[in-house]
Amino acid sequence: MKALVAVKRVVDYNVKVRVKADGSDVDIGNVKMSMNPFDEIAVEEAVRLKEAGKVTEIVAVSLGEKKCEETLRTALAMGADRAVHVETDTKLEPLAVAKLLKAVADKEQPQILLLGKQAIDDDANQTAQMLAALMNAAQATFAAKVEVGDGEVTVTREIDGGEETLALKLPAVISTDLRLNEPRFVKLPNIMAAKKKPLEKLAPADLNVDISPRISVLKVAEPKARQAGIKLANVGELVEKLKNEAKVI
Ligand code: AMP
Repeated sequence: MKALVAVKRVVDYNVKVRVKADGSDVDIGNVKMSMNPFDEIAVEEAVRLKEAGKVTEIVAVSLGEKKCEETLRTALAMGADRAVHVETDTKLEPLAVAKLLKAVADKEQPQILLLGKQAIDDDANQTAQMLAALMNAAQATFAAKVEVGDGEVTVTREIDGGEETLALKLPAVISTDLRLNEPRFVKLPNIMAAKKKPLEKLAPADLNVDISPRISVLKVAEPKARQAGIKLANVGELVEKLKNEAKVI
């Protein structure tokens, strides 16, 4: 069984992004970029399924600028077998990403498609859901546990206040949540070996997908600075302020 894993190159989670002076976007010039953390979890899960003998081949896919190759090399170093890079400098919206992934899936025919629950740059949380709809495939979002059985996969999902367990027919689209696993540390020999693994290049036009943007960003703003707090002498004072100032009780 083949697994396809989508990996996005995003601003590293340790970087505090700044809004551009004209409020048109965030400034990501010269900041550290890394694989989206939820996608690392997706790659790790695919590798574990392969180690358990459930998956035979892992194909990592990234869409975007030339440097996505680095992200794909990381996925290969973690244990993916092959990589596909759909190269474009156009900023991709989730619908365009889902259409491109669907086109790659049509070629590759994976039984399991693993994506992150959200990309930490745009926080869209849309791609996996759109991909499942375009493929007319089963989907389970926010996966905390994945077990592959005969012709189906059982996924435990994180939901408000608990867990939900679903059985999905294959092919299935699964989006990963934080508790699914802890991605492995990539060792140097694996990084070296990854350089020799195949990385296929495609353009959106090769896949016949229209990626023209449908959304324009009107404004990006920093969150409001928090006001300083105050110390109160006793509970009575707190109740008085909640009643008369905040008017919440
Ligand atoms: P989003 O819907 O944008 O929050 O992204 C959810 C997931 O879709 C990510 O965690 C990735 O697995 C996948 N994805 C989004 N954009 C890309 C991209 N440009 N290349 C590869 N995968 C992507």
